[in-house]
Amino acid sequence: MNRTSRLSDRVQEIPPSGIRRFFDLASTMENVISLGVGEPDFVTPWKVREASISSLERGFTSYSANAGVIELRRAIADYMETRFSVSYDPDTEVLVTVGASEAIDIGMRAILNLGDEVIIVEPTFVSYRSLVSMAGGVPVPIRTGIEDNFKVTAELIKEAITPRTKALMICFPNNPTGSTVGREELEGIAKLAEEHNLLVFSDEIYAELSYDEPHVSIAEIGDMKDRTILISGFSKSFAMTGWRLGFVLAPPDILAAMLKIHQYTLMCAPTMAQYGAIEALENGMEDLQHMRDAYRQRRNYVVKTFAEIGLPCHSPGGAFYAFPSVGNTGFTSEEFAEKLLLEERVAVVPGHVFGKGGEGYIRCSYATSMDNLQEAMTRLDRFLTKYA
Ligand code: PMP
Repeated sequence: MNRTSRLSDRVQEIPPSGIRRFFDLASTMENVISLGVGEPDFVTPWKVREASISSLERGFTSYSANAGVIELRRAIADYMETRFSVSYDPDTEVLVTVGASEAIDIGMRAILNLGDEVIIVEPTFVSYRSLVSMAGGVPVPIRTGIEDNFKVTAELIKEAITPRTKALMICFPNNPTGSTVGREELEGIAKLAEEHNLLVFSDEIYAELSYDEPHVSIAEIGDMKDRTILISGFSKSFAMTGWRLGFVLAPPDILAAMLKIHQYTLMCAPTMAQYGAIEALENGMEDLQHMRDAYRQRRNYVVKTFAEIGLPCHSPGGAFYAFPSVGNTGFTSEEFAEKLLLEERVAVVPGHVFGKGGEGYIRCSYATSMDNLQEAMTRLDRFLTKYA
């Protein structure tokens, strides 16, 4: 047997996440304000933590059903019905996963054959490309830009379709641009998906963090429910990143295939986390509203300040990221981020790590206190003045 390496070629070909390097560097320095992390600065609402603690006190410490605690699957289906008017059967169309991350992974593995192409609308979340590749697929990135507020249109997608295209990956509200998508654009995408028989992965983990318009899910449009793998979770909306809890809604045949992989690799999502999540969906909407209001206020502040200090930035309609252009500073986004960190101790993420169209931008997370944001903006202003 010809063995040149102990490691699989597939894994070796995948680059490590570009975000990590900056965190590692920032963690060795003092007095750093981080606009780098992609997670809420809030602690999970107390009633959610309490429900989880109570489940432990009652001794619910075993595996749950593979697909998740049935009460949670019902609560997810109720939530989807109330919020988006889409009906899902908790027994055959809902799967509770270990974060949205697992849902993306097993979704790709469930549908892709070797060489199948997945169109990925970029700049976007860093995991998609690698998870497509690890499932044997071929990522086909397409670029959105600030000139269109990072919105994707059917025309853009159409150019990338080939006979090998199996699926499309979209994420709105988007990480890192914060851009959102409206019903009209979704209708265009839905039409295209039907014409070309595409499946659509829709990562809607930031759906509840929409500040200007209520979020529209692609599963609501026409017959799209039957070709949509809708990914969501509790990490962002309920400030539960450490709980590792997500969910996926998909047609029964696809869900069954995902469940098969989930059974062998994970068995089930953490049981105590699932009990917390039931409480989050049933009684946590007010807490969610407070967090959303705080993010909206910070979004408004950050966008206004970028305009004042001369960083071009579209107004993000959701998530908790702003994605200003640093192109006119003459630095690449990596140079900009590194200099800003070393000289002013503000950590941001260079845009190129988010794929096509990301170069020339930086991702600034505003999931941090107003005091931190104000200090970060003062430092950023000083940095820009120095290099103007
Ligand atoms: N999708 C997007 C767009 C994200 O930004 C993230 C987290 N950064 C995830 C999925 C993963 O979320 P989870 O914690 O549920 O795995």
